[in-house]
Amino acid sequence: MEIKQSQINIGTLGHIDHGKTTVVKSLTNIWTDRHSESIKRNMTIKLGYADAIIRKCEKCKGASAYTIDKVCRQCGSEAKPVLRFSILDAPGHETLMATAISGANIINGILFIIAANEPCPMQQTREHLMIINLLGIKNVIIIQTKVDLAGKEKALEHYNQIKNFIKGSAIENARIIPTVPNRNINIDVVLELISEMERPKFDPDADPFMYIARSFDVNKPGTQISKLKGGVVGGTIVRGRIRVGDTVCILPGINKKKGKHSTYSEILTKVVGINTGTDEIEEAKPGGLIGIATGMDPGLTKADSLVGMVLGHKGKMPKQLEEFSAIYTQLERKDIQMTGFSKNEPIALSLGTATIVSYVVSSKRNNVNIRLSHPMPVEKGVKMAVMRRINQRLRLTGYIVLS
Ligand code: ZN
Repeated sequence: MEIKQSQINIGTLGHIDHGKTTVVKSLTNIWTDRHSESIKRNMTIKLGYADAIIRKCEKCKGASAYTIDKVCRQCGSEAKPVLRFSILDAPGHETLMATAISGANIINGILFIIAANEPCPMQQTREHLMIINLLGIKNVIIIQTKVDLAGKEKALEHYNQIKNFIKGSAIENARIIPTVPNRNINIDVVLELISEMERPKFDPDADPFMYIARSFDVNKPGTQISKLKGGVVGGTIVRGRIRVGDTVCILPGINKKKGKHSTYSEILTKVVGINTGTDEIEEAKPGGLIGIATGMDPGLTKADSLVGMVLGHKGKMPKQLEEFSAIYTQLERKDIQMTGFSKNEPIALSLGTATIVSYVVSSKRNNVNIRLSHPMPVEKGVKMAVMRRINQRLRLTGYIVLS
């Protein structure tokens, strides 16, 4: 039996040149690099997803029994599916960290990638450990890459540097796997460890809630109106389940711009099909990227216009807020001179898949009053990443939660 939907979402962290894309390629056979920086309208971050099914050969023993191929490379026997997983990726150092924070409630595990041909920790590696500590994600596998470039002695020394680096952190007991991803060395060990990761608990009765990460119009230009297919949205379900035939609500919905002022009205539509990238399914749960075909006007979904919005059942979604009080937690970043917020300072706030222009209306110590440029459903307890403009660049400086 093939596994039709991903069962676990795994984030990646690691210094920019440490071989993240190659690791993802060796684990899934997918290059995520094609989703490179595409910060569009509203500074939307395009999340990359790479899915694969881990299989196990029943005849071979140990880690070498694990593969993503349907046939065992060693003995030629059939390899049976064990786990379908999704790797989530975001481009750039700042957006990667902001995505890890704002998507923490959909990330179940982390691959932490550290290259052996540079001393550990590099600046970005240090900041990523800070993020891991902050999120409290326990499923972490440390992948030591480029071991061949370092040589045996240097790689061992580097392994000990990692050990020292994680000492006293939330992941001090994490497994460190030396690999050469482009030659597939020890990738089977990583696959075995992923297959053993603790899977997220699923509550079938929870009110469904999904972050929209894609939206598109599947019709070719010039299609007859009678043959038009409805708009499609793609994203990740945070909780609950969505079924074909459900009436779903998308918030904040359609922007009805009048002069300078925007008002939004919710979209109500029917689910006519659900796709996991490989299979049509009747019911979707949390895990991986889900495509939902709807009955809505395809003009509403074209060119990622609904990215950042959320989907659920009408009346059973978090309350929409435009102004709220929150508690700000500042991150420790050595290369940023942290200062207090100025009155009405514009910031970029990441929540779920949305990045919203917002303002710090006022602040007193770590209590801040926030105004969003438009209303959004905001959940209690969920971390929203704060990016401030520092020397003409957007930098992640901390996060807020509703107070
Ligand atoms: Zn085999």
